[in-house]
Amino acid sequence: MKSTVYFADMRTSHKENLMGKIGRLLVRAGIADRIHQGDLVAVKVHFGERGNHTFVRPIFVRRVVEEIKKCGGMPFLTDSSTLYPGERKEAVSALTCAIENGFAYAVVGAPLIMCDGLRGGTAVDVPIAGELLKTVSIGAEIVEADAIIAVTHFKCHELTGFGGALKNLGMGCSSRAGKMVQHSTVAPKVAEKFCTGCGLCLKSCAHDAIAIIEGKAQIDPDKCVGCSRCITACLQKAVNIQWNEASDLVMTKLAEHAMGAVQNKEGKTVYINFITQVSPACDCYGHADAPIVNDIGICVSTDPVAVDQASADLVNNAPGNANTALQNGHEPGGDKFRGVYPHINWEVQLKHAEKIRLGTRTYELIKI
Ligand code: SF4
Ligand code: SF4
Repeated sequence: MKSTVYFADMRTSHKENLMGKIGRLLVRAGIADRIHQGDLVAVKVHFGERGNHTFVRPIFVRRVVEEIKKCGGMPFLTDSSTLYPGERKEAVSALTCAIENGFAYAVVGAPLIMCDGLRGGTAVDVPIAGELLKTVSIGAEIVEADAIIAVTHFKCHELTGFGGALKNLGMGCSSRAGKMVQHSTVAPKVAEKFCTGCGLCLKSCAHDAIAIIEGKAQIDPDKCVGCSRCITACLQKAVNIQWNEASDLVMTKLAEHAMGAVQNKEGKTVYINFITQVSPACDCYGHADAPIVNDIGICVSTDPVAVDQASADLVNNAPGNANTALQNGHEPGGDKFRGVYPHINWEVQLKHAEKIRLGTRTYELIKI
């Protein structure tokens, strides 16, 4: 069976601006059937790294917030801590970065709540019927929320070809432990030359997996459960994840984490993809390179697979921009994601998500 994806292009006039189109898209997609009086609604966004500028603009998110409130919902904006030691590695720095990027209450009209707590460890192990995984670690506030509206910047991604709604759910809603499962099969590693032997990581480990030996931290892989708390505990940035998982498996696990994020949300989700500023890499970087296609528009659906498939097709069917990271596939119909990352089979995430019945790749695109 086909899913419906509603689409608005970037054209506007004095009769209707883009904010008006966002509202109409949500109404057509049936947001009023999904959000009910008193629902606590997680608006899952990417707050953007400091220095990045391609995340979805806060004024667009405000329009989504307004539509949720019209339905009687109580929206909050949410995101999760990063796995790596960067500018958003725990709630304090992540929320500071978010506010500096414009996601302040005065702008978006909703409070900000990290879905995975202060240090990325406030999570629920959600049982799923995945092929690879039987439980996934999801940020507790995602599980607690009554509904999810995933607001996603659709762009290329260095590990998954593209990053869309599935990635916003799967990686973006998972705890640090969940991210670790997706990215690595082994324990973090200590870079001895940066380790001062201070012992902070040891105190952060609840599994007695770290010892200081001859003034340097050592992790026992047999005791390590991959919670990744030691990575953020280290002020020297000496503890690092080993990014060893293959791209296909990252995408497979990502789809299964997405399944966990929406496990108890049947009929309570809407996905809105902004196919704007389609940068070659994710918004976790502190910069954003030139877009590989011109701005295309906005897709909304209640099916995360269909909305990503439609967004990918729209990007691929657009003419590619010269003088960008796009190396080939510039012609309409050319594979833009392989044109940036030739070795990544981006379809894996869609195929697996469809296989585990998260949605369908078959869709009808209705232009509003
Ligand atoms: S916290 Fe960092 S510097 Fe301190 S002992 Fe652990 S790895 Fe070494
Ligand atoms: S990842 Fe977690 S369990 Fe493993 S050593 Fe670090 S703190 Fe301990």
